[in-house]
Amino acid sequence: MTAELLPLEHDIRRRIAAAGPMPVGQYMALCLSDPNHGYYTNANPLGVRGDFITAPEVSQMFGELIGLWMASVWQQMGAPENVRIVELGPGRGTLLRDALRAATIVRGFNDAVVLHLVEINAVLKARQERTLEALTIPIYWHPTLRDVPGGPAIIIANEFFDALPVNQAVKTHYGWHERQIEIGPEGNLAFTLAPAPIRHFERLLPETVRRAPDNSIFEWRAENMALDLGRRIARDGGAALVIDYGHSESAVGDTLQAVARHAYADPLTGAGTIDLTAHVDFQALARGAEAMGAKVFGAIAQSLFLRRLGIEARAGMLKTNASRDERAEIDAALERLTGTGRTGMGTLFKVMAFVQPAFGMPPGFAD
Ligand code: SAH
Repeated sequence: MTAELLPLEHDIRRRIAAAGPMPVGQYMALCLSDPNHGYYTNANPLGVRGDFITAPEVSQMFGELIGLWMASVWQQMGAPENVRIVELGPGRGTLLRDALRAATIVRGFNDAVVLHLVEINAVLKARQERTLEALTIPIYWHPTLRDVPGGPAIIIANEFFDALPVNQAVKTHYGWHERQIEIGPEGNLAFTLAPAPIRHFERLLPETVRRAPDNSIFEWRAENMALDLGRRIARDGGAALVIDYGHSESAVGDTLQAVARHAYADPLTGAGTIDLTAHVDFQALARGAEAMGAKVFGAIAQSLFLRRLGIEARAGMLKTNASRDERAEIDAALERLTGTGRTGMGTLFKVMAFVQPAFGMPPGFAD
């Protein structure tokens, strides 16, 4: 068996053998962003032939509406001569391409923009370069948000936070124990619990989570990213828009999932070759950003947000010049982006905005 192990799984086993069971968060961090073998370091995850499809890949309407959102935020900021558009984890660059094309109808916006893309994946960076090569707007790439130069910014993160490592704890009679990964009796990786409960864990938890029955799983992230985002927006001005799947209020539940080739996979096999994600806890995100001085709007359902931005009118417009097949495609995309069924992203996905306290209400959040 050892001979066939993937290099990252081999490394993880060696670490566990040497240092004992590994927290879920550390396992996830290695699987996703190990500098040599991490999934997001190497893989080409997106698209029909990749592992999953995201909203900007479903339809151009998504990026276009975000583009109009950005341009209208820029106007609300007083139309500054320079604005940084920052995207965290831009994937194939599709959202920005569609966004900037749509935003050309707002005079002066594209001339004010400099793009800053935060990306760790070299394959996707090359892809983003290609997707955006026709633009005359300057583009810079950075490994983290902290490397993006200061100043007013409009920051977009679609399906970015779900890919950040999540920790898990399991409730027992004695308290909350960190969930870890060990080498099981059959030599496979297996979940286990730290023997001692995490000290002072309960008092950090919302009341509803504290009252959960035994064996409940609670997930949390370090939320450094939320703190950085909140601090930056509060200090330098502008707005951030976070779109992702998750829950509006902190809750118990095991949402760690692995996806490969559009199907669910076992999170404990295929280290570095499968995508690991977990739901975003928007309440925790809001708490982090607020603590750093940002004002928070949402989370609201993606369907509501896109409808308020006019997705139905946009779909209608696209359909007027379309063939029958194309019209059916547009309808299917609309249903995918706003639908509430099992395949719909409309209510599973949520939208939250962070703004400077003086900014007022960003588009799409008013009742
Ligand atoms: N926003 C895109 C892609 C979502 S996939 C879309 O909606 O289509 C997640 C993206 O985040 C990928 O581009 C991935 O390479 C990037 N990414 C993942 N972890 C990251 C990290 N820690 N720092 C920077 N980028 C990261």
